[in-house]
Amino acid sequence: MIPPSSQAVIGAGPVGCFSALTLSQRAGAGNVTLFESDSKSRNRFAGEWLHPAGIRALCQSGILERDELEKRSVSHRGFAIFPHDRSEAILLEYPGSDRGLVCEHGALVSLLRQKAVAEPNIHFVSGARVESVKEGELAYRLNGESDSKTFRADHIIGADGRGSVVRPALGLTRSSRLISYMAGVMLRDIELPHEGFGHVILGAAGPILLYRVAPDLVRASIDVPANAKKGRQHLTAMLREEYAPFLPESIRGEFVRAIAEDELAFRANRYRARMNYGNENLSLVGDAVGFQHPLTAMGMTLGFQDAVGLVDFDDFAEFQKARRSATLVPEMLAMSLFQAFSGRDSGACEVRKAIYSMWRRYPQERERTMRLLSGEVTSPIRFSFSFIRGVQLALLGSVLPENERLQLSQVASTLGSIGQILLGMASCSSARLARSAA
Ligand SMILES: Cc1cc2nc3c(=O)[nH]c(=O)nc-3n(C[C@H](O)[C@H](O)[C@H](O)COP(=O)(O)OP(=O)(O)OC[C@H]3O[C@@H](n4cnc5c(N)ncnc54)[C@H](O)[C@@H]3O)c2cc1C
Repeated sequence: MIPPSSQAVIGAGPVGCFSALTLSQRAGAGNVTLFESDSKSRNRFAGEWLHPAGIRALCQSGILERDELEKRSVSHRGFAIFPHDRSEAILLEYPGSDRGLVCEHGALVSLLRQKAVAEPNIHFVSGARVESVKEGELAYRLNGESDSKTFRADHIIGADGRGSVVRPALGLTRSSRLISYMAGVMLRDIELPHEGFGHVILGAAGPILLYRVAPDLVRASIDVPANAKKGRQHLTAMLREEYAPFLPESIRGEFVRAIAEDELAFRANRYRARMNYGNENLSLVGDAVGFQHPLTAMGMTLGFQDAVGLVDFDDFAEFQKARRSATLVPEMLAMSLFQAFSGRDSGACEVRKAIYSMWRRYPQERERTMRLLSGEVTSPIRFSFSFIRGVQLALLGSVLPENERLQLSQVASTLGSIGQILLGMASCSSARLARSAA
């Protein structure tokens, strides 16, 4: 693609900063103007875990040195899954020497913003809210000013997150489906049972994710059902009574203290399929395209890959086709794992048992899950193998109980749960599949 003479990126979150930096590196690129409504980068409750593919995208272009990122991060080998029945944790490790990095969201955004400010080809307009967009032009208002200004650009990139102002200009909806909520709190001075791993604790109404963000700090992200009673008091009581009992004893005391005394962050977990990336004049990257449940921590990795793809592909249609196909599996993985790990009925319980048993029995399935998570494998066929094996084990679990008798009620509920997972995957992905095949 011939670089347009002027480009505007809306939103200096992780993906917007990285997009501006990759665009400014392109040979012969004109100036890039980066608009950000917030004048300070807040340490908001958002992406902290980076998978190896995301780290590669960030570092391969030389925009960030791996050292710079590692200095601000905690290295992780993979995930420790603590099953519902409190049996021994299952360790899922990244293949080979791959590692994930956890960096506080605000620290990562600050680092990327510093890079953008230091880049001579980028003009960073901070405290500027973009109010409307049309092809070739946007209107923005600076903090404290009453009049809006217009800015002309041949290529406008929406990196402005879930409520992107660019979407309506493309005739796209800004709506999304509420899945659940995430409560976040920092735990201090605790030792995790498996240091160097993210801990996924199952058994409560939703998964609890624990990972170290600093030598003395562990982030706890607690998934709370969408229909849970609202209000701090109810939330604290629910976390103490229904979630804390599933935590390893060594952590429980600090967890109960933190949810009672410290500030709780709260975000909605929403879903929108990553279907539409706009066009060559008005493009979308990162959460502005779509997003999924953060259990699999893929949001930033997918966003950084969008930014790289936008620059690497000569043809926009090819870029969109490639991104649709590469993001289908991460989306299905996030959806199916969340559904399997949070369902309360006996069918969901069978599906979970099957997943545990698959991971315990087949080292190659543990590795495959991590290859899917690390962004290394994006093939729907390889995802399907694991899914089919999981379904097989779930049904065998139901039809071969201890006394070898068929328990029809269990088979029905297990099939019901598998059906739920399939339906969820199908409803969000069939349109994508049809289009990417076209
Ligand atoms: C609770 C939670 C936990 C998560 N954990 C992980 C994780 O561990 N790993 C991971 O990879 N992902 C995670 N995610 C997802 C991740 O946070 C997002 O995918 C990522 O932040 C998307 O980056 P972005 O730059 O596209 O959008 P955003 O981070 O939303 O940034 C958008 C930017 O645009 C600015 N902006 C918005 N509107 C305008 C406007 N009109 N004009 C100017 N500026 C504007 C905003 O101020 C903001 O700075 C998590 C999400 C949640 C909710």
